[in-house]
Amino acid sequence: MSETIVIKLGGAEGVQFEPICKDVAALIEQGKRVVLVHGGSNEANLLGEAVGSPPKFITSPSGYTSRYTNLETMEIFCMALNGKINTFLVQALQKMGINAFGLCGLDGRLIQAKRKGAIKSIENGKIRLIRDDYTGKIDNINTDILNTLLDMNYVPVVAPIAISHESDALNVDADRAAAMIAAALQADQLLLLTAVPGIMKNFPDPSSLIEKVAYVEIENVLNLVEGRMKKKVLGAQEALDGGVGQVIIADGSTLDAPVINAIAGHGTSFTK
Ligand code: ADP
Repeated sequence: MSETIVIKLGGAEGVQFEPICKDVAALIEQGKRVVLVHGGSNEANLLGEAVGSPPKFITSPSGYTSRYTNLETMEIFCMALNGKINTFLVQALQKMGINAFGLCGLDGRLIQAKRKGAIKSIENGKIRLIRDDYTGKIDNINTDILNTLLDMNYVPVVAPIAISHESDALNVDADRAAAMIAAALQADQLLLLTAVPGIMKNFPDPSSLIEKVAYVEIENVLNLVEGRMKKKVLGAQEALDGGVGQVIIADGSTLDAPVINAIAGHGTSFTK
């Protein structure tokens, strides 16, 4: 079967849609099966601020930062991701002659997740329990939908909003969603495109870019990186565990062939 590539575009400022879409067109031309997953954190933050509901972030006792998502934040999140980013990413692809098909994890139960009961947050050194949070851990990807679309030559463009077992919309991490989708499809490659050239040993010194990470080194890298980069490293590990051939964290902000360069290995490459 032809090669399958899952590409996750970061939600950080600076990630450029047009050059990415241009490269996707070239991959489709080569007969590759491509699925796009996008973030939207920056857009959701801007929209939240505009409507008087600025984002709140929580830090778990183990040091992971995530967006606090109550029902109001979930609405903003859906408007930004499923409303704006997904629509305009599909538009950008359509303008390049690619028949893109936008959907989120609720559609056909594409991304199913278990809602977290209560989550722990560290505030001023104390643990607080948060119960009205609509976030979840992905436990199933409906590959039938993606394979049907791919078989019909559509390019699926996925907004990382999941559906809970109770059928509520849940906020899930886009990098982890892309990793689960890549694993479910047994993709050859997962590209995590962000606004930095890859993982740097001495962030933000670009000359300290780590080019290759072997599976056994992942724990060390996890200790080295901060903030949301941790989720990408965890995503890379999950994808490799799930049978994905290679994961590359690469620069999605360059105007010059971001996807083609990432596939060629420019960035931080993880293999098993
Ligand atoms: P996106 O929105 O594209 O998913 P994030 O902003 O969530 O990306 O994560 C990427 C960010 O991780 C980088 O922009 C950088 O600020 C941060 N980061 C933390 N540690 C490192 C590191 N060691 N090397 C590279 N980036 C790092």
